[in-house]
Amino acid sequence: MYDAIIIGAGPAGLQAALTLGRMHRPTLLLDSGEYRNGTVLHMHNVVANDGTPPAEFRATAREQLAAYDDVEIRDVEARTVTGAEGHFTVLLATGDAVESRQVILATGVADELPPVPGLQELWGVGAFTCPFCDGHEHAGRSIGILGPAARAEHLIGLLGPIVGDITVYPVDQRFSVEEAETLSLRGVHVSAEPVAAVNRVADGVRITTASQERTVAGVFVAAGGQRHRAPFADQLGLHMLPSGSVEVDDFGRTSTPGVFAAGDLAHRASLPGPMAAVLLAAAAGQMAAVGVIQSLMATP
Ligand SMILES: Cc1cc2nc3c(=O)[nH]c(=O)nc-3n(C[C@H](O)[C@H](O)[C@H](O)COP(=O)(O)OP(=O)(O)OC[C@H]3O[C@@H](n4cnc5c(N)ncnc54)[C@H](O)[C@@H]3O)c2cc1C
Repeated sequence: MYDAIIIGAGPAGLQAALTLGRMHRPTLLLDSGEYRNGTVLHMHNVVANDGTPPAEFRATAREQLAAYDDVEIRDVEARTVTGAEGHFTVLLATGDAVESRQVILATGVADELPPVPGLQELWGVGAFTCPFCDGHEHAGRSIGILGPAARAEHLIGLLGPIVGDITVYPVDQRFSVEEAETLSLRGVHVSAEPVAAVNRVADGVRITTASQERTVAGVFVAAGGQRHRAPFADQLGLHMLPSGSVEVDDFGRTSTPGVFAAGDLAHRASLPGPMAAVLLAAAAGQMAAVGVIQSLMATP
């Protein structure tokens, strides 16, 4: 019986494991190897790690966790979580069952991209979504924004002061006349035709429409959405927020006692949505670990 099983070893789960390990709480960390920034070569806006490859960040975290005897890491998918506070059972893809007093869900989300040919292959290397993460790398350069007008406007507001010229492309159907006018007033170029394909070229990304081609430094995607990477929020009947995320309190507690959540899959109701960032996920993981320790102390 572990004190805690953490499902997910991205920044949220790794930090939660570090905190629990330092507090000598027997902890099992599970990792199926699917990270939101799995294709990203260099992460940014991470103090003291600006530009660090995410894979290196995870490897360093694991190396440092190896110093803590109370943390065990298994590279295996978790399939189900059942039970109640004090005794949870997690069934693994190997068929093994592992047990713990508390559970932290840190399984993150997966991005669902619009079906633009070539976009999946560019994700994280030439196609991005987060201006805080990848805007500065395009400073003064031409970019494309793919997406519906309202969401594109939000990205224009964030990227406008950073990048050079911006061309906005609709994804599945043309912008209405009003939408195109509104976007033009923001000082951007507006493509009359939807994007047909994107692909990597030597000096950036080529965007193709039915009748044109243009090469830009990179594209930002304002379309598509996210889905939970794992089914545990549903399995456990956790309370969800309108954003589609698991609701947590300041200590990462969910609506089910003994179940905590941290990282991209969860946020407090006071925020409009998950603040998807490496440092914020790690901070949430640390708070969830503190919440777990509080609970363990309350029920020795
Ligand atoms: C293209 C892109 C670029 C980004 N760049 C940056 C950046 O530069 N800077 C920045 O701060 N943020 C960046 N982000 C955001 C950042 O990647 C996320 O906010 C962060 O990774 C969230 O951490 P997490 O621990 O919640 O989830 P993740 O990092 O996604 O980790 C989820 C973990 O859960 C595991 N898991 C899932 N299901 C199971 C299961 N059933 N069993 C076992 N394990 C499971 C996975 O294997 C993984 O270990 C970027 C995101 C994208 C999409």
